[in-house]
Amino acid sequence: MSANTTATGAPERSLNFLEEIIEADLASGKHKSILTRFPPEPNGYLHIGHAKSICLNFGLAQKYGGATNLRFDDTNPAKEDVEYVDSIRQDVRWLGFSWASERYASDYFDQLYEWALTLIRKGLAYVDDQTQEEIRQSRGAVTRPGTDSPFRNRSVEENLDLFARMRSGEFADGAKVLRAKIDMAHPNMLLRDPIIYRILHAEHHRTGSKWCIYPMYDYAHGESDAIEGITHSICTLEFDVHRPLYDWFIEKLEIFPSRQYEFARLNLTYTVMSKRKLLELVRSGAVRGWDDPRMPTICGIRRRGYTPESIRLFADKVGVAKRDNVIDLSLLEWCVREDLNRRAQRRFAVLNPLKLVIVNYPEGKVEELDATNNPEDPAAGTRKIRFGRELYIEREDFMENPPKKFFRLAPGCEVRLKYAYIVKCEEVVKDSDGNVVEVRCTYSPETRSGGGNPRQVKGTIHWLAAERCAAAEVRLFDRLFTEMHMDSIPEGADYKDYLNPDSLKVVAARVEESVDGAYREGALPVQFERLGYFSLDPDSTAQNPVFNRTVTLKDTWASISKKN
Ligand code: ATP
Ligand code: MG
Repeated sequence: MSANTTATGAPERSLNFLEEIIEADLASGKHKSILTRFPPEPNGYLHIGHAKSICLNFGLAQKYGGATNLRFDDTNPAKEDVEYVDSIRQDVRWLGFSWASERYASDYFDQLYEWALTLIRKGLAYVDDQTQEEIRQSRGAVTRPGTDSPFRNRSVEENLDLFARMRSGEFADGAKVLRAKIDMAHPNMLLRDPIIYRILHAEHHRTGSKWCIYPMYDYAHGESDAIEGITHSICTLEFDVHRPLYDWFIEKLEIFPSRQYEFARLNLTYTVMSKRKLLELVRSGAVRGWDDPRMPTICGIRRRGYTPESIRLFADKVGVAKRDNVIDLSLLEWCVREDLNRRAQRRFAVLNPLKLVIVNYPEGKVEELDATNNPEDPAAGTRKIRFGRELYIEREDFMENPPKKFFRLAPGCEVRLKYAYIVKCEEVVKDSDGNVVEVRCTYSPETRSGGGNPRQVKGTIHWLAAERCAAAEVRLFDRLFTEMHMDSIPEGADYKDYLNPDSLKVVAARVEESVDGAYREGALPVQFERLGYFSLDPDSTAQNPVFNRTVTLKDTWASISKKN
């Protein structure tokens, strides 16, 4: 990273290769303004990889005063659904972007058909009667040229006639295809007379039964870009080999010269990203739905409590690579901590309550203590929290036989209750099984926080007044898969075998009674002090609030792996 910093103190980064291209195109006058597009296929919910693509396409347009279209790439009628269209719109908006125009590749079916006729008339496309298998066989191999189809030299008239009849529904699925006539010996296999149209008697979610022939991706995509006047068509690296074909169609049809640029897909550790696999996780019940907070989907991440700001920060940190790579999940977690640390209100919660009684605190007395809402943001102010004789503390914060450097509560030891007093553990109460069920302490009134602090102790813990807290269900998440690199599991292995059986833990917790505005749905997640950031789950009811832990305060995995 460059040592220079901007006025805001953020490190200044150099231009990525896409920014360089755009700046050159604007400077040379090749384009007066830029138009990008985000082209999801509406066959599933968007995931964090799509979020990267969204931030990139919309972000570049914003940076250079251009615009971005949202285009549903709906050329495959069988797998697509309006449910997905709605979720995609919602996700893009949630990320904070607005599109100039909402388009559907299916809106272009008439134009695409016309252009197919143009290609036929130019002698650049032909109807092929071979079966799919025969076409595959005759394609040859990388080291071996393919062989011409016996139908390759049909006359323009015959091709026009057959193509019109394909369209009118005369032929069964797979009986014929329309192919571009390029070169059966081309070193790039994709240019060995690629299929442009196939017959599919299928209902389309927008065009109904108007069409029984559908354009193939390579043909539809670039032509849709050209129709919209997309200046920079940004896609992932695997489309690199498709670019010559993209350019071929544009050149032969003499249409708007959209250009395709490729960047590396985003991959994340400990998860899978393909829509097919995500769908399978949902269908098999391995997760509770597309928006399960453990899913890498945008709706899952949103439900988990991630903010749009944190995702945009993440997309920015990941940058634009030319080489495939796998990004550590901890970077995503770092980004949401970075955002929420500045903005989230602090509250107290106890995940695993242990009763603490202050034996020398007057019975029935209640104090209201000042607690800071966000030490990072003075404007967030303070709130009152209730303190009394009976409290809950975190079971983990007490140990009967502590190791040396345990600075929390133990018999004979002192600890500070945050915003309150120093207490000393005098005795413990156990149940018949020998479990500690209550810790009995004394307190020193002169140690009240903010009162001059006559004494210091090493440990400070959080707590709740037993009668002044609410019950809440808390869902704690861990990585969905146990394997760091899910894309390199052994060949033939089932990725589902790597599901982490402990990815969800539900606990009956206690939370601060002042579950005020900061908790309400739609509001930011809160930080439960020392425990992490939590957001209210839509499963919540007035009686039973449910909180999802978005992320812990520290990267526990990083510290575990450092120790080992
Ligand atoms: P999947 O392989 O998960 O099914 P896809 O590529 O088929 O995804 P599309 O709906 O076609 O999904 O993708 C829309 C856009 O998002 C495309 O431009 C695609 O390149 C981009 N995209 C998809 N996955 C990623 C990813 N992991 N990283 C970056 N961009 C992505
Ligand atoms: Mg795709």
